[in-house]
Amino acid sequence: MNRKLLIGKPVSENIKKSLVEKINSLSKKNIIPKLAAILVGDDPASKIYVKSKHKTFLKFNCQSEIHHFLNDSNENDICDLISRLNKDKSTHGILLQLPLPLHLNSKRILDSIDPNKDVDGLHPMNLGRLLQGNPNFIPCTPYGCLEILRYYKINVKSKHVVVIGRSNLVGKPIAALLSQKFDIGNSTVTLCHSQTKNLSKYTKMADVIIVAVGIPAMLKSNMVKKDAVVIDVGINRVDDDSQKGYHIIGDADYSSLINKVSSITPVPGGVGPMTITMLLNNTIASAEKTII
Ligand code: NDP
Repeated sequence: MNRKLLIGKPVSENIKKSLVEKINSLSKKNIIPKLAAILVGDDPASKIYVKSKHKTFLKFNCQSEIHHFLNDSNENDICDLISRLNKDKSTHGILLQLPLPLHLNSKRILDSIDPNKDVDGLHPMNLGRLLQGNPNFIPCTPYGCLEILRYYKINVKSKHVVVIGRSNLVGKPIAALLSQKFDIGNSTVTLCHSQTKNLSKYTKMADVIIVAVGIPAMLKSNMVKKDAVVIDVGINRVDDDSQKGYHIIGDADYSSLINKVSSITPVPGGVGPMTITMLLNNTIASAEKTII
C-alpha cells in the first residue's frame, strides 16, 4: 500500500462495499434508506454538493429528495418542513446544506432537526455525545478523516496532532474525536485557529497536521517537521485560464510538502470523496436503528 499519497477513493470504495450489504439486508425488510436534503438559495458550490449527494444516494438504491428554498425564504417555513420530516417514518436522514443565507439563524434551524435523523452530526445533542466519547452520528468530514487514518494504518495513538481550524463542522469534532480513548484516537491534540499566535511553533511540533481553514495552500513546507502526516480538508477554488475558469486546491501547499512529509491527502481526491460516503454510512445507520 502506498502510504505517501492518502487517496480517498480506495477507502471510500472499501466502506461502500460493506454499505451495499447493509442496504440489501435493509431492503429485504422493506426499508430503503432515505435522505432529505435542504438547500436554501443559489450558492453554486452548495448546489453542486447537494446534487452530488443526491446522485450518490440514487446510485446506491437509496432514496433522496432535495427541498430547495429560495434565497429570501422564511426561517419558519424551513423549520416547518423539518418538523414534517422529523415525523415522517420513511425519512432516515435530514441534511441542512450550509452555509445558509445570512438572514437565517443556522443554529435555530439545525437545532430543530431530530437528533436521531441528524446524519450530519451537527445537532448540539450529537456534538455533546461526541464530546462525551459516546457518539451517535459523527460529522461526515471528520469521520472521513478518521477512516483515511484507519485504512492507511496511520498510528495516531500518543502522537501530537495539530488541528488548524475550529469550525463545528470540521475542526472541533476532529479534535474531540482524536483526543478520545478510541481505536483511532488517544492523540495529544492542539487546536489552532485564526487567533493562534505563531502557528508554525505548533505545526513544527506536530506528528500529524489536520488543516481545515479555507485558505489556499496556507500550510507551507517550512511549517512542518520532516515525515509529518498532513490531512488536508480544504477545498478552495482558484481562478485560472482553463475552460472551467478555475481549479481546486487544498489548504496545504501540496507541491512543496510532498517531498518533506511521510503522507499527505491530495486535493482533490483525498478527504473530499469521503464526506458523501460517510453521509451514506450515517443514513444507513439511522435506517438500521428503525429495526426493532
Ligand atoms: P470555517 O470557515 O467555518 O472555519 C475556518 C477555521 O479556520 C476557523 O476556525 C478559523 O478561525 C480558522 N482560520 C482562518 N484563518 C486562519 C489562519 N490564518 N490561521 C489559522 N486558522 C485560521 O471553515 P470550515 O471548517 O467549514 O471549512 C474549512 C475548509 O474545509 C474549507 O476550505 C472548506 O471548503 C473545506 N471543507 C471541506 C469538506 C470536504 O468534504 N472535504 C467539508 C467541509 C469543509 P476562527 O475560528 O478564529 O475564525
